[in-house]
Amino acid sequence: MAKQGVAVFVIAEQDEIGIEPVSMQLIGKARQLVDYLDSNLGVVLLGNGLSNNAQKLIEAGADKVYLGDAEILMPFQSELYTEIIVKLMTKSRPQILLLGSTFLGRELAPLIASRLETGLTAHCTQLEINSEGILEQSIPAYGGMITIVCPEKRPQMATVANGVFANPMLDPSRSGEIISIEVPDNFPFRVQTLEIVKEKSEGVSLDSANVIVAGGAGAADQEGWLQISELADVCNAGLGSTRPAVDAGWTELDTMIGQSGKMVSPDLYIGVGLSGELQHMVGIVGAKVMIAINNDAKAPVFEQVDYGVVEDCRVFVPALVEKLRNIKNSDGGGTNVN
Ligand SMILES: Cc1cc2nc3c(=O)[nH]c(=O)nc-3n(C[C@H](O)[C@H](O)[C@H](O)COP(=O)(O)OP(=O)(O)OC[C@H]3O[C@@H](n4cnc5c(N)ncnc54)[C@H](O)[C@@H]3O)c2cc1C
Repeated sequence: MAKQGVAVFVIAEQDEIGIEPVSMQLIGKARQLVDYLDSNLGVVLLGNGLSNNAQKLIEAGADKVYLGDAEILMPFQSELYTEIIVKLMTKSRPQILLLGSTFLGRELAPLIASRLETGLTAHCTQLEINSEGILEQSIPAYGGMITIVCPEKRPQMATVANGVFANPMLDPSRSGEIISIEVPDNFPFRVQTLEIVKEKSEGVSLDSANVIVAGGAGAADQEGWLQISELADVCNAGLGSTRPAVDAGWTELDTMIGQSGKMVSPDLYIGVGLSGELQHMVGIVGAKVMIAINNDAKAPVFEQVDYGVVEDCRVFVPALVEKLRNIKNSDGGGTNVN
């Protein structure tokens, strides 16, 4: 590690299980970027009771781990985290700063970007350094992919969702430096997180589902949405959604699949009443078999799936649910529609 300075930083996160997968994936990607720049990779980890995980960050590719380990950093405090990271970035002056598109990252990234007076690209699906050494940050938009650059201000900041980049191979033989960050005992909080209460999720988790049924604007109303959720239920599937379904209040934000939602890779994906917009479809590139149900034979989704059903979902879905329930009931529930 003879190289001086840190050109790329990743803000890592951990929960009670360990380092968040998206943080490890970002370190893997950042390692490629930093090797190209012939520099060092810094990873920041803030919280309480962290030291066991610092070595794992080094094994994933970090050269320097900046550890802020103190009671005041638990639970996550956006103002204090921003203060600490801004101070470190101002001192280190990196080229690139990456965060996960997580609840923490989504809150922190704009706060840090505005304090550093730099640009921020949210929910990137590709990150590459061009021949001029500028980070090309690509996102799906305007019906295709667009590339955003921040040529003048530093750091170039981007957030990336879980599942966009691969998990890195861990190398237990890697060595790196662990640097303690000074954390104040007191902080003049204007807003303070007192407790983080995790919502209990119902049904099959999208992250691990073999089958996903995703509904879109074509559901038309809450009753139409209920029919789609019944289809998910009878298929023992995770229930996903597009943005209009969330905006309409039929379902929660954590069911949204796509660029600003979840990245999923089920064996079978069934898209109901959705058009196939790129911002949704980038979330399911890992699906093995895809089916779409749409009443418009010209809907773009049909060009992207393996099987298409041109039907009104308000008629077709309840009929399919009934048929599948009958099959299940006729053999005492032994048939697995999966
Ligand atoms: C920066 C940005 C990020 C975004 N991120 C995401 C994201 O992460 N995830 C996401 O989903 N979206 C995202 N969006 C929104 C995205 O661009 C689309 O607007 C959205 O995916 C469209 O949802 P939809 O297909 O349900 O609706 P629509 O595009 O309105 O399509 C509805 C479809 O339903 C069909 N339909 C209507 N009635 C019926 C019926 N009775 N039976 C069967 N079919 C019917 C129609 O033919 C149509 O094809 C993002 C947008 C932006 C700008």
